[in-house]
Amino acid sequence: MFGLMSFLRLFSTDFDGTLIGHPSDGRCLPAFAEVLRRHRAAGGLWAVNTGRGLDHALEGLEKFSAPHEPDFLLTSEREIFLRGRDGGYFPHAEWNDLCYARHDRLFEVSAAVVRSICRFAEHSPDVEVIVEDGRPVGLITSGEHVMEDVAAFIGREAADHPDFSFQRNTVYLRFCHRDYHKGSALGELCQMLGIDRSEVFAAGDHFNDIPMLDGRYAAFPCCPSNAIPEVKRIVAEAGGYVAVRPAADGISEAWEIFSNGPLS
Ligand SMILES: [Mg+2]
Repeated sequence: MFGLMSFLRLFSTDFDGTLIGHPSDGRCLPAFAEVLRRHRAAGGLWAVNTGRGLDHALEGLEKFSAPHEPDFLLTSEREIFLRGRDGGYFPHAEWNDLCYARHDRLFEVSAAVVRSICRFAEHSPDVEVIVEDGRPVGLITSGEHVMEDVAAFIGREAADHPDFSFQRNTVYLRFCHRDYHKGSALGELCQMLGIDRSEVFAAGDHFNDIPMLDGRYAAFPCCPSNAIPEVKRIVAEAGGYVAVRPAADGISEAWEIFSNGPLS
């Protein structure tokens, strides 16, 4: 079984809720460490594809203590960083710079949408605006049920701004251009590496993972047992694997299944 997995050239794994569960001490579980070792030995590459920003992702990975570091960090659901020979991560500048420019433009064009979202938050004790570099970039809510209402509100407010979208993950929501998400970032990475979707394994648990789990960018999508129902449905529809076990143990389980070839 293990010897047959070299056709999976790239792993794209979410981090929170997928590699580290809740509760967790934040450390890599033995079964997943073994998967990483075998994947690496077979020449495979690993991207952590997360909603975390770069610094926060690095913090999490240090604690995680995997047998080796990821080759790529896809952060904030849209930016791409490559691991250099010195062990540091450097930006895929062409992609990231265009990403920043398109978001600058988006926030200009859709300033009214952001203003109305901020007004909504001001009047709700359960919603707080996240500000980065002086700009509102997203929201945090007091609970996941509140996020349902917030997402519906933004959907209505942005109805006339088709480029204005968001990524949501538990109580966090990040505003974004509709062209940028974990899927398109993964697609760009694959294009750069010359890797086809038929060689990609993707794992995630929440709403912001759906764009990389719907089959468009990865032929081998999976989710742990703790994934939300929407993710389980998308993974199943894409011919992927919904694990019985939670978090990284579920991802290891999926990898063992996929190592024997496509499910259908
Ligand atoms: Mg997650």
